[in-house]
Amino acid sequence: MSNKITPTASCADPSDPESIRVSAALERIAQQVTPISESEELPIRDCLGRINFEKVVSPINVPAHANSAMDGYAIAFDSLVDDSITELEEIGTAYAGIAFDGICGDRQCVRVMTGAVIPQGADTVIMQEQVELDSGQVRVDADHRRGENVRHAGEDIAVDQTVIEPGASINPANLGVLASLGIDKLKVYRKPVVAFFSTGDELVSPGQPLEKGKIYDSNRYTLFGLLSGLPVEILDLGVIKDEPESIRHTLVEASERADLIITTGGVSVGEADYIKTVLAEIGDINFWKIAIKPGRPLTFGKIRQSLFIGLPGNPVAVMVTFSQFATPAIQQLCGAEIVSPARLKAISIDKLRKLPGRQEIQRGIATHDENNEWRVGKTGKQGSGILSSMSKANCFILLPEENTGVEPGDAVDIQLFDWD
Ligand code: AMP
Ligand code: MG
Repeated sequence: MSNKITPTASCADPSDPESIRVSAALERIAQQVTPISESEELPIRDCLGRINFEKVVSPINVPAHANSAMDGYAIAFDSLVDDSITELEEIGTAYAGIAFDGICGDRQCVRVMTGAVIPQGADTVIMQEQVELDSGQVRVDADHRRGENVRHAGEDIAVDQTVIEPGASINPANLGVLASLGIDKLKVYRKPVVAFFSTGDELVSPGQPLEKGKIYDSNRYTLFGLLSGLPVEILDLGVIKDEPESIRHTLVEASERADLIITTGGVSVGEADYIKTVLAEIGDINFWKIAIKPGRPLTFGKIRQSLFIGLPGNPVAVMVTFSQFATPAIQQLCGAEIVSPARLKAISIDKLRKLPGRQEIQRGIATHDENNEWRVGKTGKQGSGILSSMSKANCFILLPEENTGVEPGDAVDIQLFDWD
């Protein structure tokens, strides 16, 4: 008999043949997610942050009529005499919203305010600062361009032009565009229902006394915060004990109500980790380990029509894996284009330890210096249970699989948090 124990693969190993790569996990998730097929029509203000369902085509030209970009005088450009001063007769005034009904003829001009419709016969606006007024006459020199200071009909948006594509997230600018077209209601994707619960016999909800050996449940709070930034209906199913029967019951109930179920904890290989076995009984497991740190034991699958994402229990791993895997899955489910947060290059001011074998996501504080270059430092201890490292941070530091550590001065990729 050997006097050594041969360890089996664990979370602490840098590499593990059963883990799939981050890119493979993202592909498998994308293959399984079908966007919601239902929509609802809402007043446009209620569509802020929601996902546009069908393309929006402009019913009108914006602006509807050619109008003045300046306060000045509308003229027919051909009235101007080459290389000389032209004297024009002022025949009326047009205001934004109050048009001049007459015709602007040769050697005539109409006083126009910004936004006023260009009178018939006129094609050019001379700024008021560039004319001389002389006993009722308006004097203009030849230093002008045909069509200057005129905004054309349809210059911003032409009739029949597509202004918002399906899958676009409705932002403040979109609300303005819709309003400028006179559109007051919009069809958006129904919000998918996302149910979540924490698992763990040790968990106590905030507000309750903490007995020996117990800890407060923080994952339901970070998940609530993360989900609140997405166009989903949140269904919090509380804390569930580490008992296969309770987990099975809750998952079945959740699958009847939710499009996506997210759990935390119970996905490692401890005695009380039942998520995987229950999922295998009542649904399908697609994968259960990713080559990432933190967050290797992530279980992905389906229970009936619902997608299932079993996040790890450690609070930092929950936030990291949610942002990397659940966010794109939810965007796709919502009918949205998948937008991954922008990656920036930053100079590390710290030494960062890392073994090759899996992608690592550390927590950093990024600042930009006077040359607009990004610098990043780590936020203390990087253990996957150290949630304070997350709340001090403003970005993730992304270290690729093959990376073997970072020295101060090395460039690294960072991803700024999108909830800051
Ligand atoms: P598990 O994956 O269930 O073994 O959990 C891993 C670690 O995360 C354990 O130390 C748990 O106590 C902790 N943990 C699990 N769920 C939560 C939670 N909801 N809030 C805070 N810590 C948790
Ligand atoms: Mg547990």
